[in-house]
Amino acid sequence: MRQKIAIIGAGIAGLSAASVLSKTCDVTIYDKSRGVGGRMSTRYAGEYEFDHGAQYFTVQDAGFRAVIDAAIEQGAVASWVGRALYLKSGQMIEDTGRDRFVGTPRMNSLPKFLARGQTVKLGQRISRLKRQRDNWQIELENGDVDSGFQAIICAIPPVQAQAILPVEFTELTAVKRAKMQACFALMIGLEKEYDFGWDSLRLNHLPIAWMALNTQKPGRKLEQTCLVVHADALWSEQNQNANLEWVQEQLLAIASEICATDLKTAQHTALHRWLYASVQVHPDQNYLLDPRLKIAVCGDWCAGGRVEEAWKSGNAAALQILN
Ligand code: FAD
Repeated sequence: MRQKIAIIGAGIAGLSAASVLSKTCDVTIYDKSRGVGGRMSTRYAGEYEFDHGAQYFTVQDAGFRAVIDAAIEQGAVASWVGRALYLKSGQMIEDTGRDRFVGTPRMNSLPKFLARGQTVKLGQRISRLKRQRDNWQIELENGDVDSGFQAIICAIPPVQAQAILPVEFTELTAVKRAKMQACFALMIGLEKEYDFGWDSLRLNHLPIAWMALNTQKPGRKLEQTCLVVHADALWSEQNQNANLEWVQEQLLAIASEICATDLKTAQHTALHRWLYASVQVHPDQNYLLDPRLKIAVCGDWCAGGRVEEAWKSGNAAALQILN
């Protein structure tokens, strides 16, 4: 009989685990959000669209490369050959590095591609995992209970994992030690197309760390300008409880200066606070597994904090959990 597995979290790590396990097991993925993708997400505001989390990803691992090649073939991913610049001491320098990839036509197209054919229950926040003889029972925040799982994969950030893991999970200390940092994302929608001389700009110009023209990524509509501004991680952490209007004003003022354009008059402006954006302290293991309980914890935060690491973490956890 096929084993029944629950995966909590439909981000890239959870979906990666699901694609391995669903070949031989009955897999159900749960996510508290309305869509799949987690931090590989897209925010819609009328005609405007913003990848307000992950901006692009790189590919080194052969297994991840095979997945990305398949996604490219299906039109869900494309290489982003934009004008990538780095602002250093007032100079614009070409920001060289590995090839960059993005979901097309939006960042969440890759998670949607991976979720095809999977059983995903959205809008379902898990509040507790409970042992029931040889199986696991999942308690949902709305009071529902799903039972009979032989193994559980928690593909969620460490603070959220701590809240649901049983106290006897042997790797609980490593989960508690991991630390993530916040990030403010400002989304600016301008009615016409603007050219600031770059498509993405990396900078150390506090409070801003990154700016990108979402509309210049492949497969996006070009008639308007959708600008994404990410605040510096430390600045975001220090100001995570600050007044949101104040945060927005600070980011808008510096972004306007850098773009030499008054962005305060933009047709659309919205601020999002990511509480768990990047990884500060990680266990430096691909995943954390308690083989006796048959519970694994995975996600980008286990290793390095990027999309590729999330995929590798979910993949590795799935390959080990049934051994
Ligand atoms: P997540 O994507 O966080 O998925 C976890 C999922 O679990 C979420 O969907 C959440 O809703 C769900 N969940 C949590 N708790 C529960 C619960 N109790 N019950 C049910 N569901 C739950 N990476 C790059 O490679 N390049 C970049 O340029 C880049 N830029 C970034 C910029 C920002 C602002 C942010 C926020 C991230 C960025 N990243 C970038 C990191 C990248 O987004 C992550 O590494 C990757 O998406 C993490 O995937 P994951 O599956 O580990 O976690």
